[in-house]
Amino acid sequence: MDKRYDVIITGARCAGSALAIYLAKAGFHVLLIDRSTFPSDTLSTHTFFNNTVALLRELGVMEKLLELNVTPVRDIKFQFEDTVIEGIIPEVHKEDSCYCIKRTYLDHIMLEQAKSHGNISVLEGFRVTDVIQDDEAVIGIKGLNDNKVEKIFYANIVVGADGRASTIRRLVKSELKISVSSKVGIYYGYFRRIAHNHRPKFEVYRRKDATAILFPTNDDLCVIVGIFPLENKELKERFKLKPEETLRHFLTNYFPNTTIGDRLAKAELAGPIKGILGYDNYWYKGMGKGWALVGDAVCFKDPSMAQGIHDAICGARILAGVLSKNKGQMMTWNQFSEQYQTAIENEFMVRFHMGYEISKNEPITEQQDTINKLISSHPTAIEKFLGIYNYANEPAELEKEVANIIQSISE
Ligand SMILES: Cc1cc2nc3c(=O)[nH]c(=O)nc-3n(C[C@H](O)[C@H](O)[C@H](O)COP(=O)(O)OP(=O)(O)OC[C@H]3O[C@@H](n4cnc5c(N)ncnc54)[C@H](O)[C@@H]3O)c2cc1C
Repeated sequence: MDKRYDVIITGARCAGSALAIYLAKAGFHVLLIDRSTFPSDTLSTHTFFNNTVALLRELGVMEKLLELNVTPVRDIKFQFEDTVIEGIIPEVHKEDSCYCIKRTYLDHIMLEQAKSHGNISVLEGFRVTDVIQDDEAVIGIKGLNDNKVEKIFYANIVVGADGRASTIRRLVKSELKISVSSKVGIYYGYFRRIAHNHRPKFEVYRRKDATAILFPTNDDLCVIVGIFPLENKELKERFKLKPEETLRHFLTNYFPNTTIGDRLAKAELAGPIKGILGYDNYWYKGMGKGWALVGDAVCFKDPSMAQGIHDAICGARILAGVLSKNKGQMMTWNQFSEQYQTAIENEFMVRFHMGYEISKNEPITEQQDTINKLISSHPTAIEKFLGIYNYANEPAELEKEVANIIQSISE
C-alpha cells in the first residue's frame, strides 16, 4: 500500500502553503503539490493590509519577506471623482504597515517555510488530474509529474487550494452557491521612476466607470492598474493589441483630475503588461466527503478589494482549525462541512458582497457622493472607512459613524 497522508493539498501558493504550515504545526502529515515549480509568478497584483502581515508573522515568514526590498505603506488614499478620502490605516494586531510583495517572492518564501517542516512533503511540477474515491468519500489523488509518469497518493482528506480554475472543485462537483460576473477588465504593469507625492501610499482613483490603482512594490517599482468597462469594446481591443500604449493613454486621459498622467509620463515600464478580461465573483460549497476547498478554489471576489491573499491565508487558518479541533472525533462529514462553511461565511461574506458590488462597475450615485464627502471631512469616519479593508472594524461601524455625523449636523 502506498504511503497514506493525513492531508493532500493541491496548490502550493498562499492558500496551500499556509494550510500546510498550520496543519503541520498541529501534527498532521501533509503532501503539498503544485503543477508549477517555484519561484514563479501568477496573474495577480499583490497588495495586502496589516491584518495579513500579522498572519504572515504567525506563519514565520514576515522577517524573510522584510529582507526583500519592500516599501512599508501606512497611508491609503481613495479619490472618488473629486472627493479624497485619505488617512493612515488603523493599527491591528500591533501591526501598522501594509505591503505589496511580488507573488514570485511571497509564494516562494511561503513554500520554503512549508518545506522546512518535517511533517510536510512537497511535490512541485506535478499536475493533479483526478481524485480517487471509495463508496463513501474522496480518498486520494492521481496525477502526472513533469515526465508524464502517473502517480497515486492517498489521504484522509484532499484539499483543493488550486485557485480560480480549481481542478479539485470540478472533480468533486462542488455546488456553486453564488455567482456574479464582473463588468470590467483589468490590466496592470510594473513601472520604475513613479514619483510618490510626499510619502509612499496605496492610491485608488475612481472616475465615472473607470478605476486606477497605484501600489509601490519590490525593487523600487510601482504596480499600476487600469480597470475599465468591458462594454467599451474599442478600448478592450486596443488593450489586447497595444497594452502599454493603451494603459498609459487610459490612465492619462480618464483621470485628468489627478497627477497620474504626469507621473506616468516620466516612468518606464519594467516587464510585460498583464490583464484579465472579466471574471466571476463566486462562492462554492467548501467541504464534502473527503474533500475541502480553500482560497480562490472556494471563493473569489473583486481584486480591487485586495482581500484575496488575506482570505487565502485566513481561510487556511480556519480550515486547519476545524480539522485539528476535530482530530480523532467521530464527526460526520456533514457536521465537519457545516462547521467550516459557517466559519468562512462569518469571516468573508460581508466583504465578498462588497467585492461583487464593486464588480458591477456602477457610477457613483449622488447619495454616495454626499456620503463620501462627509467621510472625507471627518477623521473618525475616515478611520472606519479604511478599517473595513484590514478588519479593524466592520462596514456596519462606518454606517453607524456616518449616521452619528449626520445627526450631529442636523441638531
Ligand atoms: C488581476 C488580479 C489582481 C489581484 N490583485 C490582488 C491584490 O492586489 N491583493 C490580493 O490580496 N489579492 C489579489 N488578487 C487575488 C489573489 O490573486 C488570489 O485571491 C490569491 O492568489 C488566491 O490564492 P490561492 O492560493 O487560493 O490560489 P492561487 O494563487 O491561484 O494558487 C493556486 C495554485 O494551484 C496550482 N494548481 C492549479 N491546478 C492544479 C493542478 N491540477 N495540479 C497541481 N497544481 C495546481 C497552481 O499552479 C497555483 O500555483 C488578484 C487577482 C487577480 C486575478
